[in-house]
Amino acid sequence: MSPREDTVLSTMQDVPLLISRILTHGSTVHGTSQVITWTGEGEPHRRSFAEIGARAAQLAHALRDTLGIRGDDRVATLAWNNAEHVEAYFAVPSMGAVLHTLNLRLPPEQLVWIVNHAADRVVIVNGSLLPLLAPLLPRLGTVEHVVVAGPGDRSLLDGAAVRVHEYEELIAGRPTSYDWPELDERAAAAMCYTSGTTGDPKGVVYSHRSVYLHSMQIVMAEAMGLTDRDTSLVVVPQFHVNAWGLPHATFMSGVNMLMPDRFLQPAPLAEMIESVRPTHAAAVPTIWQGLLAELTARPRDISSLNRVIIGGSACPPSLMQAFDKLGAPVCHAWGMTETSPLGTISHAPAHSLGTDEEFGYRVTQGRFPAGVEARLTGPGGERLPWDGESTGELEVRGNWIAGSYYNGPDAPPLRPDDKFSEDGWLKTGDVGTISPDGFLTLTDRAKDVIKSGGEWISSVELENALMSHPVVAEAAVVAVPDDRWGERPLATVVLKEGAAADFASLSAFLEERCGIAKWQLPERWTIIEGVPKTSVGKFDKKVLRKRYADGELDVTRL
Ligand code: AMP
Repeated sequence: MSPREDTVLSTMQDVPLLISRILTHGSTVHGTSQVITWTGEGEPHRRSFAEIGARAAQLAHALRDTLGIRGDDRVATLAWNNAEHVEAYFAVPSMGAVLHTLNLRLPPEQLVWIVNHAADRVVIVNGSLLPLLAPLLPRLGTVEHVVVAGPGDRSLLDGAAVRVHEYEELIAGRPTSYDWPELDERAAAAMCYTSGTTGDPKGVVYSHRSVYLHSMQIVMAEAMGLTDRDTSLVVVPQFHVNAWGLPHATFMSGVNMLMPDRFLQPAPLAEMIESVRPTHAAAVPTIWQGLLAELTARPRDISSLNRVIIGGSACPPSLMQAFDKLGAPVCHAWGMTETSPLGTISHAPAHSLGTDEEFGYRVTQGRFPAGVEARLTGPGGERLPWDGESTGELEVRGNWIAGSYYNGPDAPPLRPDDKFSEDGWLKTGDVGTISPDGFLTLTDRAKDVIKSGGEWISSVELENALMSHPVVAEAAVVAVPDDRWGERPLATVVLKEGAAADFASLSAFLEERCGIAKWQLPERWTIIEGVPKTSVGKFDKKVLRKRYADGELDVTRL
């Protein structure tokens, strides 16, 4: 944007906010910090930020000189969290190309659609994921090169109509520095598709500027408060919203990263916490639920953790209390693929510390940081006050918030009306309240809220209440059609191992112990084996609604 003629210019330098600058800073000033990758046996693999910087330069040379990557070509990764994936995170955008992280848990059909839509030319893949990639290759029309890193059966690629490269051989012997181009900070750096629960997945493209500013926010004391004294266990996948921005943010402050690679099950996670002793960790509630069950069965020392960030879906207060008791305090955060993702984070304000109010603040989704503006919109489009009571759809805007979706290289970006307001704010589809001091409490997804006789029932409130019952391992509540009220809640409950439940007493618990109003109590109940999850570990309520509609659930009516 050029300054207006009558603008008084500042006397500051104008240095573009580029990912290459984060890399150069991290690999020199914090050159001894480490990426520690869990290997499942023996000592974890350690690589310093200085080595990552050198290898990222080598990868960029290889991508340019051997694979012919130019301009804003898309380079995809299909990989776990590990050191090579961090190298790609920096090399690809720093050289001016676009990193496209593929979600390895998506159904094959969606993966094919996404790779073709983004027109990826290269896929950097972990050897362990070749069984997933190889059968799809004949349908990935734009992919010319596959670069394989780490152990796995290469013969799966025999006969594939692409050029296959070994990651280590490809980068070996190349120069360990690269003259990173001075790009436009607004240029595309990385892209990530939303999980596409309705319609086709939508591409969100982050700019160098948005990544840079978001990273600065992540390390701030008000957000994750990270310094070079920390080691962050990055469970949240690098294929889901840039691992919540952690790989970039850690390079800004020299934070060591502990990467679980493919060892995401509760037992190895507990083992890596005990042996590497991270101070910080980030993951969705389902990971923490699993870890809690593991720690209850086989106690381990997790006392090194002094901040556990839980986000991606609502953190049940009971889960927060359980980790608090284990000496690993939880901090709740909210965000979306479209918000880079940090939207809010819940640190109780100073005046509440040590009072009854403190926990009440911590269980909210949290406070908006300075870079995120928020407003609530009612059903008729009216602006609602920040009074902690008025419930509406959350809309946000800011420097790391999407203003449109990717629609191919030659098409104008998509701005669907249900996703963006006329004045350009992102409509999040999340429903809740905002307190006068800027704390967000989400009561539901707009599509999951239960509309009963003209009133709204929060499925999340019922789920949190149910999950605080000692026999309940997990619970999901969905709206089902009802002749009299339009919709009513159906409670689907997963019991802890060996536990039994009677629905009447669960209902009484909700009313008497959790203060749920009588008219909001579910009358339809069922026990299920496990709550179905989406590709990023969130409750998949559409699957439950379908099972109910197809008569597959054995429902008891109270
Ligand atoms: P995704 O783009 O896949 O990361 O999904 C974003 C959505 O996850 C948000 O719009 C919310 O519905 C949900 N979400 C993320 N964090 C939270 C949270 N802390 N509490 C409730 N819902 C959340």
